[in-house]
Amino acid sequence: MTDTKAPVQGNGKVGFISLGCPKALVDSERILTQLRMDGYEVVPTYNDADVVVVNTCGFIDAAKQESLDAIGEAISENGRVIVTGCMGVEAERIRETHPGVLAVSGPHAYEEVVGAVHQYVPPVRQHDPFVDLVPPQGVRLTPRHFAYLKISEGCNHRCTFCIIPSMRGDLVSRPVGDVMDEAKRLVDAGVQELLVISQDTSAYGVDVKYRTGFWQGRPLKTKMQSLCEALGELGVWVRLHYVYPYPHVDDIIPLMAEGKILPYLDIPFQHASPKVLKAMKRPAHDSKTLERIRKWREICPELTIRSTFIVGFPGETEEDFQYLLDWLDEAQLDRVGAFTYSPVEGARANDIEGAVPEEVKEERLERFMAHQAKISAARLQRKIGQTIDVLIDEVDEEGAIGRSKADAPEIDGMVYLNGESSLAPGQVVRAMVTEADEHDLWADLVE
Ligand code: SF4
Repeated sequence: MTDTKAPVQGNGKVGFISLGCPKALVDSERILTQLRMDGYEVVPTYNDADVVVVNTCGFIDAAKQESLDAIGEAISENGRVIVTGCMGVEAERIRETHPGVLAVSGPHAYEEVVGAVHQYVPPVRQHDPFVDLVPPQGVRLTPRHFAYLKISEGCNHRCTFCIIPSMRGDLVSRPVGDVMDEAKRLVDAGVQELLVISQDTSAYGVDVKYRTGFWQGRPLKTKMQSLCEALGELGVWVRLHYVYPYPHVDDIIPLMAEGKILPYLDIPFQHASPKVLKAMKRPAHDSKTLERIRKWREICPELTIRSTFIVGFPGETEEDFQYLLDWLDEAQLDRVGAFTYSPVEGARANDIEGAVPEEVKEERLERFMAHQAKISAARLQRKIGQTIDVLIDEVDEEGAIGRSKADAPEIDGMVYLNGESSLAPGQVVRAMVTEADEHDLWADLVE
């Protein structure tokens, strides 16, 4: 029998499986970039790989199971597996289920993962910067015309349903100069849309007391507003995700109104009832959100707000739920995702009394979705007849599919330009909206 743990002198070929959210995807891109710099080749099949890296997700129990299944598949198909990512903090559970894994590390442990690959598959040769072609923007897993820009790791909050801080630690902001350098490299490489991500984008710089950094010889604060201003100068779409409604978010709305960054905010509200928000320990839960939203829209009428919600959180009464539905009527959010509460191992919310029965959770989810669907549909209907910018994502023989400024990739809607097969991904075109349903738009090109 071969010892899978002994180093192999293979061909320096690594298989890679990336699971989880955009933040995990960015981690994968960093690891892959480093591996390429170290002379490894990334291959698409188990058979060709000397070792397989699985970047796992550990957000909810279903994601953990998916991660364990992916590790199991990689072990049976290849046998030599290195595990990293959010589920890596549960190394014991991974090793119990799959004793054959070679190494386990947690989230953003780039050096550790790369070190494990070096240990089990020594590099064939040293990286030669004059010969090896690592693209200056690094290896990316998203299409060429959009890219995620991660501005910090970790989170200072302790929402009771979430175990991310215990996996990723407290907030650590990346130096603003590094973030801007990366953004510039991506734009120079053809990226048309930067998606700013983190666990808590509006907290950027809190950990370093908004320290002044430098970019291209000029001072720049490690702060959301300064970062948005600088990103706005790059001439591409800049979209903000995971923003909490702290008072200073008001300061970036004018940048949206002036067209410097996209008029789009992804704010995971999770609930509206003050009692439930308090039990969830949500950031900025006591801010007068409806009033704020009204003011934001006065300043920037084009503003699109996307959010996610949890229904059936422990202790949520019918009254709390009704409060949420009424709140939705007032807030008139554009895009909304919702989940039923599911207990996550290690989360404090599991100890909160008043668990909501499964069938009540499901019934509330259905009512919630039906309620919001009408709001989203009505808001999209209002776009019919408007001329909008569309960033093209895909083109086939039937036409082009793109997104408007109101649509983030993967989570929001599409704009269909039927018959426009001569467009190219990454192009931004003007189009007039002719039709809408509750998710998507159809539009015709405008000369
Ligand atoms: S803000 Fe709350 S939900 Fe988001 S990562 Fe931090 S603790 Fe988790």
